[in-house]
Amino acid sequence: MLSPCRAEATLAVSTENAGAAFHQKLEIWMTEFVFAPQAPVGVPVRGSNASFPVRRVYCVGRNYAAHAREMGSDPDREPPFFFCKPSDAVSYVADGTEGTFPYPPGTGNCHYEVELVVAIGKGGRDISVEQAASHVYGYALGLDMTRRDLQNESKKTGRPWETGKAFDKSAPIGPIVPVSAIGHPEKGEVTLSVNGVEKQRGDLSDLIWSVPEMVSYLSKLFELQPGDLIYSGTPEGVGPVVKGDVMQCHIAGVGDMTVKVV
Ligand code: MN
Repeated sequence: MLSPCRAEATLAVSTENAGAAFHQKLEIWMTEFVFAPQAPVGVPVRGSNASFPVRRVYCVGRNYAAHAREMGSDPDREPPFFFCKPSDAVSYVADGTEGTFPYPPGTGNCHYEVELVVAIGKGGRDISVEQAASHVYGYALGLDMTRRDLQNESKKTGRPWETGKAFDKSAPIGPIVPVSAIGHPEKGEVTLSVNGVEKQRGDLSDLIWSVPEMVSYLSKLFELQPGDLIYSGTPEGVGPVVKGDVMQCHIAGVGDMTVKVV
């Protein structure tokens, strides 16, 4: 007989397009859980009924030279670096819809950062730059929303960045576009406007670490797994939003995304 906890989780998982094998495995594990675990986070794949199951969210800091300079660092001396967001910070915005971003608590200076997101389809350790592209399932357009005041406080005090970066709903994302549909975009404009006024403009060709380089580097520090996302860094022009603002994001060849701050 199913415990209430077990029944609940079974229902949650089957509505997430999870595979039958995983479903079965979860039912066995369920006997050990004291309450129903969270359903996996899925990001729909464009042109498909299936979703990309999110495992971890890695983010690259200062991966465009002009943005590194605007944040007060010298890109010639300090290489990019990584931080993480929890997978349940991912907030999906469907094509052609206006997503919502709830203005987060604890900040008076919440910034947008438009970014190309890399979706890992095949895991591995010590992946070479040459092999890295074969580990990528697809790409998406994402926002690395940031409580800049809390991040700056963390930098000043030498504390971790979680409060500035890893808050709830801090990672809006559009659909995953598979490599089979668009290949590996290496150039193309990246823009963000707020209320129709352009604020950010860059080009994928200006990434300090290319996608293969970031995948390779990361795989030497962590074992990558299918389902990992990598937010690849933002171009210059970051700035604050307030409730009521509408952010329009664009990456050539990948997509468009509109998100309202509520
Ligand atoms: Mn960022």
